[in-house]
Amino acid sequence: MLTDVPAAPAPLEEPDARGRFGDYGGRFVPETLVLALQQLAEHYRELRQDQGFWRELAELMRSYSGRPTPLYRARRLQALVDGPELWLKREDLNHTGSHKINNCLGQALLARRLGKSTILAETGAGQHGVATATVCALLDMQCRVYMGAEDVRRQALNVSRMRLLGAEVISVESGSRTLKDATNEALRAWVGQVDEAHYILGSVVGPHPYPWMVRDFQAVIGHEIAAELWPKKVIACVGGGSNAAGAFARFVPHSEVGLVGVEAGGHGFTTGEHCASLGRGKPGVLHGALTYLLQDEFGQVSQTHSISAGLDYPGVGPEHSAWATSGRVEYHSVTDEEALNAFENLCRLEGIVPALESAHALAWYLREGKGRADEGPWVLCLSGRGDKDVQEVLRLRGLV
Ligand SMILES: *Cc1c(COP(=O)(O)O)cnc(C)c1O
Repeated sequence: MLTDVPAAPAPLEEPDARGRFGDYGGRFVPETLVLALQQLAEHYRELRQDQGFWRELAELMRSYSGRPTPLYRARRLQALVDGPELWLKREDLNHTGSHKINNCLGQALLARRLGKSTILAETGAGQHGVATATVCALLDMQCRVYMGAEDVRRQALNVSRMRLLGAEVISVESGSRTLKDATNEALRAWVGQVDEAHYILGSVVGPHPYPWMVRDFQAVIGHEIAAELWPKKVIACVGGGSNAAGAFARFVPHSEVGLVGVEAGGHGFTTGEHCASLGRGKPGVLHGALTYLLQDEFGQVSQTHSISAGLDYPGVGPEHSAWATSGRVEYHSVTDEEALNAFENLCRLEGIVPALESAHALAWYLREGKGRADEGPWVLCLSGRGDKDVQEVLRLRGLV
């Protein structure tokens, strides 16, 4: 029940005065953004103590997004591999189809309190863009979404959804014309209008205070899990790392709960075509934060590949870099093919079509949970639904 969920995220760890989690994070941005980010951090620090804000957010999450999301026991998937008792945290049942709306609702309420009239956002596959356009319609704000030209082409349905919701979609032609470039462009656009605009970043990445705020807004996932059962392990896929951070945060202080982040192994490490920022990356600066990222020997950000657009990002949130370094969270990866198999298994055995991102976490369960029936309960964050991926899966399977 929602009444069991703390209104404010008080017990969670805060970044230090420089905005770092351990050695990672910080604020590596142009001069013009430093002041805006400092003010944002100060406002957020105050808001974090404001019970009225968290109550308003909790009420919107309940009445508009459908929280709390169910915890569903996947018996047939468990039986397939004789694995640990498995519970799916159904973030796919949120309004707009993924966990992204948790963060968008929080940041849009924050922007309204700051008196901002315009919202800027970046998007890759379009899920964050759709969630942002949705909350802007709800709260009567202007919305401009930056999207790589290549993604505009690949994700036509989400582009149409954003336009129907009243957002302006701006096609970005620079670089590889995907998420990384859209994020650069959105940050650049924000520099020119920091007074009237708020930038809603879509994951636990970017300069301080974003990794902190986004984690707090997503932490409702872990709070709801803990209110229903106490897991032995929590498993989540990691792109930028927001659904994982939200699912993990509640359990980080409890070392008896195992935490597993699953990155996109793409075609496998030997091919170089993957997105395993923690598995194969090195520390560097991307989008204003010091964190693990995939880069070549000269520090140039590498081209990445994943079957799933939402995981196709060369970096990862700084708090994950800190958790990886301290060993508190284990990070592993699965390949495109393993994710595809898991996608099909969840469809056929449980009647749930998952996002390809979430299928990565499922694939890890199927591979590593095999034969470990006495080790549950394990909870897996099913970050989103897979309608957006149906065409791609059919294409990859040669069915269209
Ligand atoms: C965006 C997205 C992800 C990846 O983002 P994180 O910040 O790592 O959570 C995962 N699953 C779904 C369904 C998404 O839309």
